[in-house]
Amino acid sequence: MKISERIKKVPPYISAEIDKKVADLTKKGIDVITLAIGDPDIPTPENIIKVMEREIHNPAYHRYPAYEGSYEFRCAVARYYSKRFEVELDPDTEVMALIGSKEGIVNTAYAFIDEDDYALIPDPAYPVYKTATLFAGGIPYTMPLLKENKFLPDFTKVDKDIAEKATIMFLCYPNNPTSAVANKEFFEEAIEFAKKYDIVICHDSAYADIIYEDYKAPSILSAKGAKETAIELGSLSKPYRMTGWRIGYAVGNKDIIKALGRIKTNVDSGQFTAIQSAAVEALSGPQDSVEEFRRILTKRRNFVFEALKDMGFDVELPQGTFYIWASVPKGYISASFAEYLVDKAAVVVIPGNAYGEYGEGFFRISLTTPDDRIDEALSRMRKLKF
Ligand SMILES: *Cc1c(COP(=O)(O)O)cnc(C)c1O
Repeated sequence: MKISERIKKVPPYISAEIDKKVADLTKKGIDVITLAIGDPDIPTPENIIKVMEREIHNPAYHRYPAYEGSYEFRCAVARYYSKRFEVELDPDTEVMALIGSKEGIVNTAYAFIDEDDYALIPDPAYPVYKTATLFAGGIPYTMPLLKENKFLPDFTKVDKDIAEKATIMFLCYPNNPTSAVANKEFFEEAIEFAKKYDIVICHDSAYADIIYEDYKAPSILSAKGAKETAIELGSLSKPYRMTGWRIGYAVGNKDIIKALGRIKTNVDSGQFTAIQSAAVEALSGPQDSVEEFRRILTKRRNFVFEALKDMGFDVELPQGTFYIWASVPKGYISASFAEYLVDKAAVVVIPGNAYGEYGEGFFRISLTTPDDRIDEALSRMRKLKF
């Protein structure tokens, strides 16, 4: 058997590795608390499930779904953008359904990266931008996200020759893993840079609605010129706790959407239409469950932030995402600190370097664990010496 070089080029997927580690410890009878994976612990809201229960019986949905997504779903996304961001979208040309935004990232990479093309990738970052680039045969070029720049890339530092050869840039705000946020001016700077070098921007907007207090994360599409060069990938996974349902969307520049569609028609057949109907209910129905989720997360965020500060960690209060990104204590690197927490407290966090070399020196805590388990994890940590 000859396994492709493509697979050998990429490291094993981080969540899969962590799942394995937790399973090993649990088998030994250890009560492991994982603060690692970003996957909501609270179920999908009832109103969404009810629509699914009804729609699953529609025989029209038992046949191949439309590649671009149902018209109703695309209209619901357009209405959401109009209401939430004051961005107007044509549901026929500027919206496409995705089988989760992860799928959209990979297929967008295939649509814009040829062998030896450069892709501009933030670091630290969600690992999929880089692996998708490698799968497509491209060359990842790192844009460091530094604490002193509030974890935003500095476009003036991008090598001009590389920028000339780059075809795509990935961005993500509110940011996983750093929990940093970006304003409209930053997006305008990104667009200006991208237009100068004829680069497509793929903005991963999975956390646009995981936001705190009065903060409202902007869409890149509300920035001037965005529709000339950018798409945004949205996801129902996080705000509506639908990670298992696999539903998201791509919105923005119609030529980019069209190219992505060309790849998708050859790779998949669109998400089950009943799931898209449930997603219409999520986007268009009552939003109290999202409010409630934000209230729960706000409480956890405040609690974890205060506890970590109290233990002497260098940490900031996030305005978005359900992650806390903190510096490891002196004398540790990311891996040794994460290992120390597992060994001494059976608490799993993600070492920052799992998100790239510039994540070294940090660790990430996810707030998607029940309150009492977070509480227990923090009391175990308080007993340790750093
Ligand atoms: C969770 C996550 C996604 C994946 O979302 P799906 O729509 O479930 O595929 C995409 N990007 C980032 C940064 C994420 O954290």
